[in-house]
Formats: sequence, structure tokens, C-alpha cells
Amino acid sequence: MSVTVRFAPSPTGYLHLGNARTLVLNALFARQHQGRFILRLDDTDRERSTPEFARAIREDLAWLGIVPDRLVHQSARAPEHRSAAERLKAYGVLYPCYETAEELEYKRRRQRAKGLPPIYDRAALKMTAGGRAVLEADGRRPHWRFLLPNFTSDPFHTESRIVSWTDVVRGPQSVDLATLSDPVLVRGDGSFLYTLPSVVDDIELGISHVIRGDDHVTNTGVQIALFQALGAAVPQFGHHNLLVLADGSALSKRTGALSLKSLREEEGIEPMAVASLAALIGSADRVEPLPDLDSLAAHLHLDHISRAPARFDPHELHTLTHHLLKNRPFADVARRLAGLGVEGGEAFWEAVRGNLGRFDEAVDWWQVVIGPPPGPEAAAEDRPVLEMARALLPQEPFDSATYGGWTRAIAAAAGVKGRALHHPLRLALTGREAGPELARLLPLIGRNRALERLERACAPVG
Ligand code: GLU
Repeated sequence: MSVTVRFAPSPTGYLHLGNARTLVLNALFARQHQGRFILRLDDTDRERSTPEFARAIREDLAWLGIVPDRLVHQSARAPEHRSAAERLKAYGVLYPCYETAEELEYKRRRQRAKGLPPIYDRAALKMTAGGRAVLEADGRRPHWRFLLPNFTSDPFHTESRIVSWTDVVRGPQSVDLATLSDPVLVRGDGSFLYTLPSVVDDIELGISHVIRGDDHVTNTGVQIALFQALGAAVPQFGHHNLLVLADGSALSKRTGALSLKSLREEEGIEPMAVASLAALIGSADRVEPLPDLDSLAAHLHLDHISRAPARFDPHELHTLTHHLLKNRPFADVARRLAGLGVEGGEAFWEAVRGNLGRFDEAVDWWQVVIGPPPGPEAAAEDRPVLEMARALLPQEPFDSATYGGWTRAIAAAAGVKGRALHHPLRLALTGREAGPELARLLPLIGRNRALERLERACAPVG
């Protein structure tokens, strides 16, 4: 079976890590099956959807290295949605209702008071054409409900109707349509709720697998009934658990917290850290930093995802970023380094990559290499070592063995070793308490700069 999946965000906010989970799982599933991946922007909410958010979503995908095979704006497909609604009306399974929100709330309160589940009683089905005409004349516009197929011949005698499917994540699943209200598909102003357009688009885009959060499990029961009412084949479904913070709180598009944009632009998180965490957290598999989407796809098993919410600590993204950078070969980053004005080639990258919390820290280390010389002057007790170091600094060329040879000579001459030897040198040469191996940095700093720094460290105070 050929695989076509879609990621269908509404462009009403920035994507966050929880959305990234759905995105990455879909994109990887397509990769695993040589399938197609469609980006569908569910932008039918005209007031809340903005071109800026739509653009940000596309940037997020590009940053993650996910290239959609097709981009669809749901808002452009309104004629198809309307025609599907007309078909459902013609089949008698989409019916007009005139209750106001207050009336519906009142009904629900009464049902609850009687200990009954608050399920819509289908009162609108009992209305006559005349009754409807009176309300219409009064300016009332109907909303439209889908008549769930949970009865044999009398819609007021509902019966258990189990819709079941084999979920590609959760295994066997079922929803009893008798436990649900007929869902509103069309609002009083004629606009559609998400349920029907999504099904119509899934049919027409040939979606084979709908992979989304487990907050949609109940929707799936309704949507399967809609696929069937429209005479379409039902796709396969997969519902993954949702990401929650360590304290159990959910992620929200509105707060902007953990948005991919902020992780990228403010936190310096690597895209594969996001993709690895988003794909592997909350499953039987350990979260580990995979270097690219293909290796992550090879690693992913949808059926290893657990049912409990996926708790995560945002700090993991920093740890994953650090590990990814540490293992990145120079060829992978050469262009990014050049873009930041960092020279020094492979030797520089290999010197610093193990010390990076985020990629742009490479710029700081490059500044450490090229100067200006770090200050301040050395502490008095370090001066003899540094004087000796200055006197014994070898001639160029420098290589990775230079530092070892030089410090052995200083140790022998000054009678110091360990931290008392290396720490003053590190401070004098780099201005930092800690950092990449000096054996790797020294050849990059070079003899002239090293000498200048040692002289400065030893300059008389005052
Ligand atoms: N736009 C819907 C959402 O963001 C899509 C859900 C689905 O994948 O069907 O919840």
C-alpha cells in the first residue's frame, strides 16, 4: 500500500515541541515507507489564522529538513467542503438545528441533574418544515449536525455502535457512537468546524494514514462514520501520546513557550535535537541524538510509543544539542561556520566541538583564537610559570604535540605540574577558566599571539 500522510496544523500560533512530535512522526513514517508527506494548513479560521504563522510553520519545517511533497491551504478547498455537506444533507444525515448555546446548556444541565450523560437529544429532528420556517423568519440561522449511525431505524432509540480500528500506535481501539452527541459540522454562519473539512481533504488528498495526537481518538470514531457516509475508504489511524512538561502541564500554542522558533532563534537548539526528542520521547526507546532524519526514521517504531503522556524536561534539548555538535563532522558544519565568519577549518572545529552548548558558541571560541589578547594580568604566584613558558615557547610550526612538549619542558624547569602548570597557561592563552584542549588550541592561536598573551599576562601591574 502506498503511504500518504499529512501534517495539518492551523496557522494560529507558532508550532511548539508538541506539534513537532506530530510533524516529525508523520514525516518519518513517510520516509520509512517511501511515501508522500503533505503539509496541510488548516486555515479555515479566518480570524485566528495569519500568513505570518503560516510562514513560520514553513520555516520550522525547512529548519528541521522536512520538505513537503505538497502544500495545501484548507481555506482554498471551501467548494469541496460545501459540496460534501450538500451530499450529506441529501442523504439525510446532516440536519439543521436551531437551539441557541444557552438552550443547549440548559438541556445539558437538566440531563446531568437526572444522572444522564449530556448527549444531544436530536430534538431538531422532530421539527416540522413550518416550525423551521417560523424560526428562519425570525432571523435564526441553523447550525448543522451529523446524524451519527447509532440506531437501526428510529434515531430516538440509539443503540450501541462500536466503531473500531487497529491503531498503528495504540493497537485495537474502539469508540461507541451511542455515547456521543451528533457533532455540529457547520456553524450558524455557514462556516465549518474542523471535523468535516478534514475528512473531505483526507479523502481527496488520498491520505492513507492519519497520524495525530491522542486528543483526537474520539474524533476518529466520528470521522470514520463520516468517511463511510461519504462512501470513501477509511484511512488507517495512529494516535500518539501528547507531550507534557515534568509537572504534567500541557504545551500551548498561545503561550509561545517551547515554540520551535524560540528554540531555534533564542535557545540555539539543533534541529536534530528537536526531531530526536519529538520522535523518541514517551516510548519504549531511549531518547538519543540521531544525526539525521534518515537514521531517526530507521530507529522509529510507532508501536513502541506508550499510552501515558510523554513527560519531558526541556533541558534535554540542550543535552541533545551538545551531543549532536560534539559528534558532527566538519563537512556537515563547514558552511554554517563560514556563514558566521568562523575560519580555522577542520582543526578549529575538532578543537571546539566538544565544548559547545550551542552552535554559535563556536564564534566565541574563534574570537578566543584570533584575539584581541585576553586579560587580565596573571596572579603573582603564576608569574614564574608564565615567564618560563614565555622563554620556552618553541618555534613554529606548531602541531598537536607542541603543547605537550612545551609544558613538559616548563614543568622540568619550573618544578610545577598539574593544575598549577596548566591553569595559568589556559588563563593567559584563552582568558577562560575552562575550554577546549590547549593542545588543539595552541596551533590555532600560533606563536605570535601566544607570545603576546604570555607577555601581557606577565606585564608589571599598574
Ligand atoms: N488542524 C487539526 C489540529 O491541529 C488537525 C488534526 C488532524 O490531524 O486531523 O488539531
